[in-house]
Amino acid sequence: MIVVMEKNATPDQIQHMVDRVQEMGLKAHVITGTERTVVAAVGDERDTKAEALESGPGVAKVLPILAPYKVASRELKPEPTQIQVLDFKAGAGALGVIAGPCSVESEEQIMSSAVAVKKAGATALRGGAFKPRTSPYSFQGMKEEGLKILAQARAETGLAVVTEVMTSEEVDLVAKYADVLQIGARNMQNYRLLEAVGKSGKAVLLKRGASATIDEFLLAAEYVLNEGNPNVMLCERGIRTFETHTRFTLPLATIPYLHRKTHLPVIIDPSHGTGHAYMVPDMSVAAVAAGADGLIIEVHPTPETAASDGYQSLDFEQFEETMRRCKRVAEAIAVS
Ligand code: PEP
Ligand code: MN
Repeated sequence: MIVVMEKNATPDQIQHMVDRVQEMGLKAHVITGTERTVVAAVGDERDTKAEALESGPGVAKVLPILAPYKVASRELKPEPTQIQVLDFKAGAGALGVIAGPCSVESEEQIMSSAVAVKKAGATALRGGAFKPRTSPYSFQGMKEEGLKILAQARAETGLAVVTEVMTSEEVDLVAKYADVLQIGARNMQNYRLLEAVGKSGKAVLLKRGASATIDEFLLAAEYVLNEGNPNVMLCERGIRTFETHTRFTLPLATIPYLHRKTHLPVIIDPSHGTGHAYMVPDMSVAAVAAGADGLIIEVHPTPETAASDGYQSLDFEQFEETMRRCKRVAEAIAVS
């Protein structure tokens, strides 16, 4: 249920509704919009009489939330959400670019990447220290040593650090160094992990599972939001289809669809979405044209020697050129 407060509702009246919702055994989320404040009452509503809240002081109306996801839904919050971490901003007219290597390999590799991607216009640095690899024999990441290198890159460049956390037990460790916790495609439905990153209070970049429907994707986001963490970005990184010319199939229609259903920012990953470096520039530009709120792009000083995903990584020059093209499109459609 959504309890829509009157325009001039007082803080006491809003708090009163929060208390009433909690007394019903539901969770209360207060969303302060530009137009109005709403109190979302979420949880199992079967035995509650939430409609009766309509007669409460300062209440304009009580509406059901029809979507299966609640806090993520646009019904609850018509205004788009903007996520800001350091200089990185995504959503509500801001285009946030996250770039860097697939995995952290060395201090020199990360430092040179950070300087190059920042110069080209990125405001966040990516790099996996814990890597979910298909084979147990592949490079698994530098772990805490890698996190320290990322934090050092932030200290020197001011870029926000985006890095993956793979298990609930490692959330505290990764959160100590990261600004944005990435949940990988393979973990999109790891519900205990989603709750743990929800509790961490850090911004979250949630990647779509390769075979997840959009409703499943949004319900996964709901697990994070339901812990009281509103800073969730949804990342379309491609889905598994019968097609083999790309590593995954990157559906850009996800952007307008998600914009209709949710207020959360939508980030596109053209690197994993295509699996081929030569396709990444065009798909980045296309994503911006389709209204993406951000991009996450794999960039490596020497893609040929990368420990992971070199075949889909841009070198510095290619990334710079891609950013130039994206900027022109963004200006044409008036996002910044
Ligand atoms: C990555 O970003 O390097 C990664 C492993 O992505 P995904 O979880 O989308 O496969
Ligand atoms: Mn990768």
